[in-house]
Amino acid sequence: GEPRIHPDKCIGCVKCVKGCPGNALEMFYTPEELAILATFEKGAGEVEEADEDERLRREAIAAYHGVWVFVEQTEGEPARVSWELMGVGAQLAQSLQTELCAVVIGENVEHLCHEAFAHGASKAYLLDQPVFRHYRTEAYLEACCTLIGTYQPEIVLMGATGMGRDLAGAVATRVKTGLTADCTGLDVDDRRNLRQTRPAFGGNIMATIMCDRFRPQMATVRPHVMPLPERQAGATGEIVREEIPLAEADILTKVLEIIRDKKAGEVDIAGAEFIVSGGRGMMAKENFGMLQELADELGGVVGASRSAVDAGWMPHERQVGQTGKTVRPKIYIACGISGAIQHLVGMQDSDLVIAINRDREAPIFDVATYGIVGDLFQIVPAITSQLKQLRQ
Ligand code: FAD
Repeated sequence: GEPRIHPDKCIGCVKCVKGCPGNALEMFYTPEELAILATFEKGAGEVEEADEDERLRREAIAAYHGVWVFVEQTEGEPARVSWELMGVGAQLAQSLQTELCAVVIGENVEHLCHEAFAHGASKAYLLDQPVFRHYRTEAYLEACCTLIGTYQPEIVLMGATGMGRDLAGAVATRVKTGLTADCTGLDVDDRRNLRQTRPAFGGNIMATIMCDRFRPQMATVRPHVMPLPERQAGATGEIVREEIPLAEADILTKVLEIIRDKKAGEVDIAGAEFIVSGGRGMMAKENFGMLQELADELGGVVGASRSAVDAGWMPHERQVGQTGKTVRPKIYIACGISGAIQHLVGMQDSDLVIAINRDREAPIFDVATYGIVGDLFQIVPAITSQLKQLRQ
């Protein structure tokens, strides 16, 4: 709607002007307003005080060092995203000339420290106590905050999984710092600030967010967004063992039973190497059978755009994109998908993208390695039959 300014609330600080990502705001003052603003100008003493505060803040920030990756695990099984984060974490650590550290919390999880070294960490902080057997916010929050308080990391990365999202938000709130969720790009600027890039405003723009006043800088990244670094078997590092005085009786939440929600036969598109996705151009649910045939030939799975999911042609767990899953297969074949930005952010890092669309102007072609302009109802079966022939 129409933007409105509340004259009794606006103090003319121009934060909105500076903060508007579209540079869409300007502020004009009448001569009378300028006169009023002048009366608010700070005296010299106040300016000096502010400078001193700023200097102390900078000093406090400079005490923070190291890039940390939280190693997510369930019953000792690591989440792949943790190793993906090690890859980008190593790049950040190198740019900052600092160390890459793993944070391993659980029970009987020391093996994950060695796995972290194999994925690039040079140090692992290990909290191995029975109270950490199952993930519970209170226990892991306590563990992370104790470690952060003691060792003061500059950057803390977590996977944007159920666990990571829960923990990162809780930790950032407790240690009073900023958190950027679902980053798609991470790098550092020349003032050691983490540049955290993620889609904003419904995916219509990419925003780069910084947390320059607080440490650590915290970010979550979805699975499959960052490439998996190569595993260096036998790599070693330093394990720093910590123990915190936390007893089972201190934790109010109890895990009584673990019920796996994955239904038999459910497909995991996020981990698939070959994905054949259909969009609104598929016209009907029955036509997805054609995509399944092609996927079967490739040994892959069928994905979908949100339009296809909203139409009820595919279940939500098959949706690729901003509000679906992020995928990074070897080959992604987009059939009858226009390539809206919210779809592209979920698949544009695939190794190879093949787009089939009858509209040659469709934006999907901008990210495609190979583009086929034409009717998918002819092209898809033709590819499938070629593959069948090749196999025989
Ligand atoms: P359309 O844009 O309608 O494209 C259909 C395409 O099919 C057209 O390019 C057409 O040329 C082609 N076509 C039609 N018939 C044929 C034929 N016979 N042969 C070849 N080509 C044909 N979308 C997602 O996909 N994932 C998300 O996670 C997601 N999240 C969103 C989050 C928000 C906050 C918002 C606002 C939107 C989101 N969307 C998401 C929706 C997104 O903006 C698009 O509306 C959606 O991706 C469009 O789907 P589509 O490409 O299948 O349909």
